[in-house]
Formats: sequence, structure tokens, C-alpha cells
Amino acid sequence: STAAPTDLEIARAATLRPIEEIAERAGIPADALELYGRYKAKIDVARLPDADHRGHVVLVSAISPTPAGEGKSTLTVGLADALSRAGKRTMIAIREPSLGPILGMKGGATGGGRSQVLPMEDINLHFTGDFHAITAANNALCALIDNHVFQGNALQIDPRRVTFKRVMDMNDRSLRDIVIGLGGPTQGVPREAGFDITVASEVMAVFCLASSVEDLKERLGRITFGYTYDRRPLTVADLGAAGVMAMLLKDAIKPNLVQTIAGTPALVHGGPFANIAHGCNSALATTTARRLADIVVTEAGFGADLGAEKFMDIKARYADVAPSAVVLVATVRALKMHGGVPKDGLAAPDAAAVERGFANLARHLENIRKFGLEPVVAVNRFGTDTPEELDAVVRLCGSAGARVAVADVWGRGGGGDGGDDLAREVLAALEEPGTYRPLYPLEMSVEEKIATVVREVYRGAGVEFSEQARRTLAQIHENGWDRLPVCMAKTQYSFSDNPALLGAPEGFTVHVRELWPRTGAGFIVAVTGTLMTMPGLPKVPAAMRMDLDDDGQVVGLF
Ligand code: ADP
Repeated sequence: STAAPTDLEIARAATLRPIEEIAERAGIPADALELYGRYKAKIDVARLPDADHRGHVVLVSAISPTPAGEGKSTLTVGLADALSRAGKRTMIAIREPSLGPILGMKGGATGGGRSQVLPMEDINLHFTGDFHAITAANNALCALIDNHVFQGNALQIDPRRVTFKRVMDMNDRSLRDIVIGLGGPTQGVPREAGFDITVASEVMAVFCLASSVEDLKERLGRITFGYTYDRRPLTVADLGAAGVMAMLLKDAIKPNLVQTIAGTPALVHGGPFANIAHGCNSALATTTARRLADIVVTEAGFGADLGAEKFMDIKARYADVAPSAVVLVATVRALKMHGGVPKDGLAAPDAAAVERGFANLARHLENIRKFGLEPVVAVNRFGTDTPEELDAVVRLCGSAGARVAVADVWGRGGGGDGGDDLAREVLAALEEPGTYRPLYPLEMSVEEKIATVVREVYRGAGVEFSEQARRTLAQIHENGWDRLPVCMAKTQYSFSDNPALLGAPEGFTVHVRELWPRTGAGFIVAVTGTLMTMPGLPKVPAAMRMDLDDDGQVVGLF
């Protein structure tokens, strides 16, 4: 057949170099390399040369996502390859994929087309076992909590107020709400409990924000796992469990080195949800890449209203990762959807719809400037885009005063010439790097911080807190958690909390239903809309296409 090759087929046709060669190219000494087979390695950061070198961080974010797809990971990989091709010492720092969405419907997180990190089967499946280690660390705490209650409950843990859940890296809706400890007095103390997906756990967020092993242990110790009968918060440190949790993460915390199809070194490490957490790879991967490379291309989940805002207001406060430039990925197809075209009408050329949908991109461009940074627009080219439609985006970006380039890193690769124009624009932007500033000071109350994000980034008219959220606000104040930044859990499809409001809506109210203090990770989650911390599988899961052939090769993984 003449069908285009799948991501898996392209990946398999690529020639991988031994990982030692990639490490050498990245300046990683052999004794800092822990090999996991021939094409994967962990990096012992303590054994890296103690340089003061700090490469530029380029953050890849996007317009508000649509079902038409944006291709942030693809662009991240392709841009890094194009920068390498331009002779720059470049490294990638991106998230590890979660098994749940892979078996469900999302597709991988290793890029696509000619812009992928390899070996994609391994990275998308168990990789170096990090998520299993995080699962074990999380569940060790759960076992210790329930055992403490069973063994006399010296801490006076209220079993009805244990907020910390067990996790599994799987989409399994039947485990969302369960009752544990059934079977009589020797089987534990019955209580309502539940499972989240591993990537939604606070341990994952802690793992990704920790700046060192010491900081990891401190953050684990600060996790609030529940409350006493008289409603005092209880931490992991109170239970004495931070040590064992850190121990279980001893290898996982080391960043994973892999390569792109074009041979650019990539650190793929950690992967928290982008709604109830901050949605980007580990801080350690990004800071390690900065020590080694002159330019680090990294990615934040969802659109810039969520991913970039959290990168600036959470991650960049806790780790030395402030970006010098931001790339905003847009596609003609997604802009058309923001301009009112339904998904099944995207095939018809419609430059006018692109112009209408540009309002979404324009707002994201303005927002990036509020963090002191100049955005560069990357138009991720699809085969169906017409010259008129592409011209419309380029022209409108020009009138908005933004640098812009059309990139075909999916089709031609950044290691080919598909990302040369984009690399040139990014390098020009790095000639005058911005000066990062967060949106709000930490001294503001949690309520004001949320109001600031809603006003300045979403452009909503106001915020409405539910009765329950108001009670938690009072509790946050009582417990002295006011100084934490906020982590907005909002739909990624709209600036508002209504996923159907595409484009650049105005005049809406954002409804905060609940507030979840995440005192270990170091943020307060503001929950708007409905939220899934344990997703379910669709009627026909992607898993049904997957197989292992008689040669032991993966089949049907994207
Ligand atoms: P995101 O990071 O925004 O979720 P990805 O980079 O993972 O998006 O891409 C999602 C899917 O879209 C992948 O399967 C990828 O191969 C495909 N894709 C990305 N860019 C293009 C493009 N320009 N043309 C065709 N398919 C693309």
C-alpha cells in the first residue's frame, strides 16, 4: 500500500547509535553513565564535571489544544535537531509517557514522523522503570499509613480523612473508589479509599520539582497525607516515611539519556499530569541538560495558559530553569477550529477561519510577554495546509510583532531541513534573551493568586469559589500554606473553564470547586470543572491493536 509510514515504522527504520557515543557528544563522562542496555542510560549527576555552565532554556508551549492536534513534542524534538544541525550544542528535556493513556487512546509522547526520540517502544513502555519506582514509593506510604492505623494509631490518623491515595500507571476506572480493610479484625481497619493514576500522584510532582536528593527527601517529608481526628494536618515526616520513599527512588531520580532520530541527546525524565500538577519533565533533567548544553529545548503540557504559566509560576520558582525564549506551537488546523470550523470540516481550505482563530494565538502571545519573554511562533505544517492559510498565520504573527516560522519537522525532520527556518528565528530570539518574571508574588493570598491568573492569563471577568473551596481557603490560611503558588486544574481546550468556548472568549467566570493543598510538591491545586485523577478506557482501547510478533517485536504501538 502507499499509506504513509507510521511513527513506529519510521522509528524502527532509524539507525541508533550506541548510547555511549551520544553521551560523549553531550560531554557526559563515561563514569557518570549507567547503562540500561545499548540505547538507554541513566546519568549520575554527582559525577558530572562541576561546571558553572548554564545553557539557555527554550520552552515549547502551544495555543489552546484542539482535537486537531498541535504536535508540541514533535516540534520540541524537531527544533532541537535543527539547532544541532545549525552547529549548536543542544539537548532536549521532555517527559516520560504514562502507560495508562498509551493503552487508552492518547498516542505516545515521544514526538512523531521524522522528529522522534528513540527507542520509542522502550520509552513508551516500561523504559528504565521510573514510573514503577514512583508507584512503589507512593504505595509504600499507603501501606505504612494503614499499618499505622491498624497497629494502634499513635498519630490519631482519622481513617475518613486520609487524602493520600494508592496509585497504578493504568487507566482503570473501577479502582477510583474502593473500600479496603474488609474481612475482620486481623485484616486491617476498613475505610473508603481509591486509586489514582501514577502520573497524578503527589510523589510524581515532588519527583519532578526536586532539585537534589536532599530536596527530594524534604519535599516527600512535607507531603500532607491526611488529618487527625481533631483535623490537624499530618505529614509524611510525622509518620517517618520520607527515608524509605527516597530510597525506593534512588535510581529513578537519575535522568534518562536517549537520542533523537538525528542523534541529538535527550533527557526523558518524569511526567506529572498537566492539570493537577505542573506538567513538565523533572527539574533535575532540565538543570542537568543546562550544565551540558548551550541550548536546552523543553516542553510544558497543554496550552500556554496552563503549561507555560505553571512553568513560570511553579517550576521556575523552585528550580534554575527560567527560559530565555518561548516557542508557541500552532497549526492551521487548530486555528481553523478556534475560528469555528468543526473537526470534520477541516479538510476544506479556509484562510478566513484561520484569521478568526488567530485570536487564540494572539492572546497566548500577549500572555508570554507578561512573563518578560518574547514568543516565537512555530507553525507545525500539515500536508493539508494551503499556502494561503500558512501565509495568513505568518502575516498575522508579523502584525502582532512576533517572530514566526513554518516548520516541517514531522515530514522532513529537524535533522533534515524541516526546522531550519524555525531554528534561525529561535537563535535570533536568543540573541536578545528575555528577563523572566513570575506573574504574581508569593506573598499574595491564594485567593488573589487565582484571581490574578484568571484576570491576566485567561482574561475572565472573575472567580467564584464554591462553599467547599472557601472552607479550604480558611484551612490553608490556618495551616500557614498561603505562600504556596497555585496550580490551576482547568480544561486545556479553552481559556475559560468551559471546554466548548474556543477562540478567545471574554466575560466568563471561572468556578473553583475545590482546593487541594499539595504541601510536598509545593502548590495549591485549584480544581475547576470535572477532573479525572484516574482515567478510564474508551470503548475500543488502543490496547486492542497492540501485539508482540513471533520475533519479539512490538506491533501496533501508534
Ligand atoms: P503534543 O505533544 O501536542 O501532544 P505530539 O507531538 O505528540 O503532540 O503529536 C501528536 C500526533 O500528531 C503524533 O502522532 C504525531 O505524529 C502527529 N503529528 C504531529 N505533527 C504532525 C504533522 N505536522 N503532520 C502530521 N502529523 C503530525
